Amino acid sequence: MNIPLLISGSLILATGGFFHILENHRPLEDIDRKRHLKFDLTVIVISSLIVAGLTILLLDGVVRAWLTNNVQLFESITSQPLWLRITLALVIGDFGYYIAHRLMHTPPLWRTHVFHHSIQQIYWFSGLRTSAMNSLIIRLPYLIAMCMFAIPLSVLPLIAVCLGGVNFWVHSNLNISLGPLNYLFITPPFHRAHHSMSEIAIDRNFGNVLSCWDYLFGTAGKPSVELNTSVKGFEIEPDQILRQLVGL
Ligand SMILES: [Zn+2]
Ligand SMILES: [Zn+2]
Repeated sequence: MNIPLLISGSLILATGGFFHILENHRPLEDIDRKRHLKFDLTVIVISSLIVAGLTILLLDGVVRAWLTNNVQLFESITSQPLWLRITLALVIGDFGYYIAHRLMHTPPLWRTHVFHHSIQQIYWFSGLRTSAMNSLIIRLPYLIAMCMFAIPLSVLPLIAVCLGGVNFWVHSNLNISLGPLNYLFITPPFHRAHHSMSEIAIDRNFGNVLSCWDYLFGTAGKPSVELNTSVKGFEIEPDQILRQLVGL
């Protein structure tokens, strides 16, 4: 039995359950979490299988080996305490995510990302609806950062759980403000605005964990009651589902 996988899976489930209960208690907007649940379960399983296959074939093999040989930083840095290296790797990986997400909103890469923007009922689980290509692209910045700081493989399940929890957090149907820390960390309303179809929300709020990138580079859009409850998500034509699911 793969113990780290079992622990990671249990932690992810517990985190999802936690957000589910919070949403039951005080939802931000009145949505129907069951409306697209079957569709989401189906496409998430298919997309995850494609991503898992490609991750084992490429990211964990050829790409990781190449990165380890070519991007790992000097020993004076990789010999620093593990907690410091993980923190730096997550910050740099998060900046890479911000750039990748902005690029995915430009014409050549929009095809990889549009599936995520077809979510109409936004709640903690719905954010897992991403194309296989999207999932691979957003893994790359974090993988590069992990290799730069020589983060041991044994730590990766923990990081995966944390980033999975972040995905649940930013998509959760909760009206939570962190006060002044809103300028540093993404909140659910901040990412909710990114999904809004409103014109004032177009190309706003690209960050994943840290909102400071959006404030630094002028792409931050402040959440509002109007954006919170605005219409979200493109309609997917039935003949486009497969193409959007793969992300090509
Ligand atoms: Zn987006
Ligand atoms: Zn999202």
